[in-house]
Amino acid sequence: MYPELHSEVTTRLINDYSFKSSRCGEFMQQGTCPSCGKKELYTNKENPWVLRCGRLNKCGDEFHIKDLYPDLFESWSDRFPQKVTQNNQVLEKPNAAADAYMQHGRGFTLSTVQGWYEQGAYYCGQRQIGTATVKFKLPCGATWERFIDKPQRFGKMKANFAGKYTGQWWQAPDTDVTTWSGKELWLTEGIFDAIALLHADIAAVSLMTCNNFPDQALADLEKSLAGQKKPKLIFALDDGKAGESFTRKFVKRSRTGLGCQRSTATQRQTKTRLERAVPARTPDQTANRPM
Ligand SMILES: [Zn+2]
Repeated sequence: MYPELHSEVTTRLINDYSFKSSRCGEFMQQGTCPSCGKKELYTNKENPWVLRCGRLNKCGDEFHIKDLYPDLFESWSDRFPQKVTQNNQVLEKPNAAADAYMQHGRGFTLSTVQGWYEQGAYYCGQRQIGTATVKFKLPCGATWERFIDKPQRFGKMKANFAGKYTGQWWQAPDTDVTTWSGKELWLTEGIFDAIALLHADIAAVSLMTCNNFPDQALADLEKSLAGQKKPKLIFALDDGKAGESFTRKFVKRSRTGLGCQRSTATQRQTKTRLERAVPARTPDQTANRPM
């Protein structure tokens, strides 16, 4: 947990749950449990991501910081501002909020993902509100940007596409596709799912939307891997009817003509892989109980 967040969270926990913070020891303890009202709530002092009730048999409830204090995780450019001049020229840290979102909001390793995106800005004329974004370049000049300042203000729209990406996929900019030869290549729906798999050394690309069959990208891959063993395609689209239905269609479609092997990942397999890939998403799950 980065120092500013740690300090803010600790102050709030003491105020809101009456934790006793002793100088020694690994835990903050004796907080009031919101479920059972007893003073048995505890959390890790250095990384207070999860609060747990110590009454394992009678309550044992747990509470995640992101659910308790969503405001600390939703307005990234307030917390990590760029330094700008009066005429809005960026002087320093042009990607400050985007980096913070990727590192602290998503749990990615900054040294791995830096350079894969830039910080953008999106303004909705109808609502007259704006937000910083994490902006990715897609093939053919298209872009996809995720809103990172209170995205719920934009209703269902949490991201913005510009340009056409049909038939393409997003792959990490520094990818050497010949390393995919003979391996599994996972095709996820969202960019962040693909990035999570890449953190676990699993080759992955993002189709961006569940109805985008990557015929052009696959044709380009065939050319790049001429004479080499092709990867086995694993379609891992999002949960739900649309994802499942397109997965079936895509597997069928990729059987015709293209020389890759393919199979479908079940949702459980994908979820397990993703959880293993980015443990920071569910931090502190293995913390011991205080004695
Ligand atoms: Zn309790």
